[in-house]
Amino acid sequence: MQTESSSAPGSEQSARRHASSAEERVKHQQRRGLWSIPLAGAGLALVFLVLGWQDWQAYRDSRAALATSSAWHGADMLELELQRLQRQGALFSRSMPALADHLQRIGDRQEEQVQMDALLSQWFMNYESYAFFPVADCDIHFPSAWASYCAEDSYASHVLTDHPGESLSLLVPLRDSGGDEFMLWVRLGFAPFTELLETLSLDGQRGVLLSPEEAARRTDLLARVAIPSTGWVLGVQPDAGAWWQQRMYIAKRVGGAVLLVLLGVLLLVFLRVRGLREAQRRRELESTHAQLYEQATHDALTGLFNRYAFNEHFQRLTRQSQRLQQPMAVLLIDIDHFKQVNDQWGHEAGDGLLRKVAEVIGERARRPLDMAARLGGEEFAVLLEGVTSADAWALGELLRLHVADLRLPHPTRSFVSVSVGVSCSGPDHFIPLKDLLERADRALYAAKGGGRNRVIGDWEVDA
Ligand code: GH3
Ligand code: MG
Ligand code: MG
Repeated sequence: MQTESSSAPGSEQSARRHASSAEERVKHQQRRGLWSIPLAGAGLALVFLVLGWQDWQAYRDSRAALATSSAWHGADMLELELQRLQRQGALFSRSMPALADHLQRIGDRQEEQVQMDALLSQWFMNYESYAFFPVADCDIHFPSAWASYCAEDSYASHVLTDHPGESLSLLVPLRDSGGDEFMLWVRLGFAPFTELLETLSLDGQRGVLLSPEEAARRTDLLARVAIPSTGWVLGVQPDAGAWWQQRMYIAKRVGGAVLLVLLGVLLLVFLRVRGLREAQRRRELESTHAQLYEQATHDALTGLFNRYAFNEHFQRLTRQSQRLQQPMAVLLIDIDHFKQVNDQWGHEAGDGLLRKVAEVIGERARRPLDMAARLGGEEFAVLLEGVTSADAWALGELLRLHVADLRLPHPTRSFVSVSVGVSCSGPDHFIPLKDLLERADRALYAAKGGGRNRVIGDWEVDA
């Protein structure tokens, strides 16, 4: 049976090499692929988390810086406005003693109050509402909510408690002609202050006026600045919209990062699956190719190369021998009286004998460029390169002896034998390479004619 020990043409060896290296590549890819996906995913996630965290910190810092600077700016503006109102109130107090007298007289009469409203409105055009509070008692009052404030100790704190963050108030002391003291509470209008506070609104933040206690209590303030002339505090608070905005910002960042990581992982999985499939397909192709090559070039019964492979290799070796000026030899081996084995013991016995002889012949062609083949029937051939005619003949003799030594049974003879025809083209015995086969055949014919179980060289036939 043909074995790995017999020669193999270059194309078969390279096909085997390719198949095994493709297998190695696939294994390597599998090993690498196992780790690459989780590692790449974790790496990407880490990068995104670090970037997202830095981004978030920068965003918070810039917001806080913006809030602080806008709070300082707003506090300045409010203070200026308050100082202006203080001056205006003082002016009012000095230049309107008639008003104070008037207050003494008006009592509860609604129309008088309306007149006074009109009068005061001219002075405090921009401000929303106002009221008078008696400092000492409640003798003079208007039929409106302010009357309930009379008993309070501190109007300013009362106002702030009732209207936190909504307004600024200005208390202007008045004295009527009778010497009674009043306090004019001017509730500074919402309109200008709302506007003012809105100009402080930046990126979802809102200015808010608070008592110092409340400002200290509030934990959500981004910045707080005291307004010296009032003792109040201007705080900057994120509004509800900004809360959502912040959450959406975080959600987008984190969601984006997770999405990107998922996409990366999906891409890696896709590439890996595709790579594995391709490697698998390549492996199958290579193995199919190797199988087809094996079938096309080998004899199914003995496993030796077939006539087709022999002819191909003969052409190749002939060209190489010509180019390198190397000797080359052919051995034709034929089993003696093989037909009788078939006839007496059946075809299967004949096949078994063919396998045994083929095994002996295959073992004799060990060098890389040597080849043993079954040319058909019970005829075999061995191609040898770089040998002298004497070496070739010696190998033929070795083959013959080896077969004879097996003492394989034969129906009519004492054991199975082979006849061998040798032809060789070398420096010692030159013949055209293209004639090698024909001359080996003639030598084999001479061996048969000479009584079989012998080796004859073509040079002997010529002689
Ligand atoms: P010689 O010594 O002159 O070579 O005589 P021989 O009988 O060996 O040669 P011959 O050419 O007369 O017979 C060859 C026989 O080989 C004929 C054929 O039936 C047989 N044969 C050819 N191929 C196979 C095969 O694959 N298996 C078997 N069992 N027999 C085969
Ligand atoms: Mg024969
Ligand atoms: Mg024959």
